Amino acid sequence: RMSLPKITTGSKNLDNLLGGGVEVKTITEFFGEFGSGKTQLCHQLAVNVQLPLEKGGLSRKAVYIDTEGTFRWERIEAMARGLGLDPDKTMENIFYVRAVNSDHQMAVVEELKELIPKEDIGLVVVDSVTGHFRAEYPGRENLAVRQQKLNRHLHQLMSLAELFDVAVVVTNQVMARPDVFYGDPTTAIGGHVLYHAPGVRVQLKKSRGNRRIARIVDAPHLPESEAVFAITEVGIRD
Ligand code: ATP
Ligand code: MG
Repeated sequence: RMSLPKITTGSKNLDNLLGGGVEVKTITEFFGEFGSGKTQLCHQLAVNVQLPLEKGGLSRKAVYIDTEGTFRWERIEAMARGLGLDPDKTMENIFYVRAVNSDHQMAVVEELKELIPKEDIGLVVVDSVTGHFRAEYPGRENLAVRQQKLNRHLHQLMSLAELFDVAVVVTNQVMARPDVFYGDPTTAIGGHVLYHAPGVRVQLKKSRGNRRIARIVDAPHLPESEAVFAITEVGIRD
């Protein structure tokens, strides 16, 4: 497997699990229950992509597509300070979009074909990738059409990753009560949206206090092991 540029997560443990970090030309999916750290990781990566190569970044900017309204500039500020980066500059280099529904979410991604090369974007975040699709096409009866739209969206994202050498990071909340959602592969525990799409799937679990556990799910080129990381005031750390 060719070695591709990677973005550090801020945790050596998690980076090692990922084979160095979050990789360009790839969709990385973080899935897990509420509070497992998906959004915090997205914030951290939007900061870290801006770091120079020798510090684990790509010296490039980020696009952050927020579908749930959980993005916080204050967190970016704190994470930038935690790395000794200029907070204002760091925030300027993040293109934030609040996607209001699934059609908007897809339209925004379509427009990135122009923005990414123009602004030297190295990372596209979609947090969460599934939220709108689930709300608009609820339940088992809409599963087929939901999956179809979601697959089209993932295909869009995969094209961006490949065309522009960007890392794409998506999140997907899965339920702690799998029985309730039995039969729906995108909500069941251990379920993920990248079923048939290429990419890296990382399951996140809550542990004691600010500790979180990450595990790679079916990636033949990565080890079947776990990594422990922490969510701190200044961001993701070991
Ligand atoms: P959801 O599925 O609900 O979107 P998530 O996986 O995105 O959840 P996050 O929002 O990333 O979860 O994680 C929330 C956790 O991050 C909080 O429970 C808290 O432990 C930690 N956290 C958030 N802000 C801070 C902070 N300023 N300092 C330290 N820890 C924080
Ligand atoms: Mg979240």
